[in-house]
Amino acid sequence: MPTSGFRVYRTEAIVLQRHDFGEADRLLTLYTPAMGKVRAIAKGARRTTSRMSGHIELFTHTELVMACGRNLDVVTQSQLIHSHERLREDLWRAALGFHVLELVNLFSEERLDNIQVWHALLDVLGRLDVGQSQEASPAAAELSVRYFEARLLDYMGYRPELRSCTRCQECLEPVENFFHPPSGGLLCPGCAQGHSALLPLSVDAVKVLRVLQDGDYGLSSRLRLTSSLLREIDTTMRRHISHVLERDLRTIHLVDELRTSGA
Ligand SMILES: [Zn+2]
Repeated sequence: MPTSGFRVYRTEAIVLQRHDFGEADRLLTLYTPAMGKVRAIAKGARRTTSRMSGHIELFTHTELVMACGRNLDVVTQSQLIHSHERLREDLWRAALGFHVLELVNLFSEERLDNIQVWHALLDVLGRLDVGQSQEASPAAAELSVRYFEARLLDYMGYRPELRSCTRCQECLEPVENFFHPPSGGLLCPGCAQGHSALLPLSVDAVKVLRVLQDGDYGLSSRLRLTSSLLREIDTTMRRHISHVLERDLRTIHLVDELRTSGA
């Protein structure tokens, strides 16, 4: 068995998940620019003397030196790039942030890089990481996450069809159309007949979803949406995402609770 020659590499990373492991270690799920999702172990990170611990909190953007292990890579050094600590100061933005981390984790395969997802993740965390004094309305935060979801779906190959009917292929009229997750997008009123699991979508909701999908954040962020329209967009996105992932998201319940309590 070789005693030297362990491959060591340096990478930036965002911490997606963090679990206690053994006596004093932490098990990390990271997202990296060149390798996508990576699991790693940070030995001794729970000791009070560990210099690493503050660098590997959830949401942190960090630079790590890793040694390739037989099963898990081992974090040997860390340097904080951005803690995104202001994101955590607000429950609503933190809940949205957890939702983003969960999405990246569920959509990513280990060791399958996607540089666009990396940049989209950094962007959305940056947008949620704003001080109380800055313009950071709950609606703006929510919209930035819907924008992120549209990007993520695009980059992973699950872009919903919002312009033509997924069945008859006709361009959709500006009337109430129907989102149908199993079809991967919208159905016109004629084709929707007889289908179950339909989500009626208002003309405005379809417009907003198209703006988000077109990928112009400047335009998306200038939309001023009523809470009912925001809700309609959220419901559509989560139905589509749950269908693609074949599961419900854990973080949805936290988001719903906070929305109901008006936090
Ligand atoms: Zn049709």
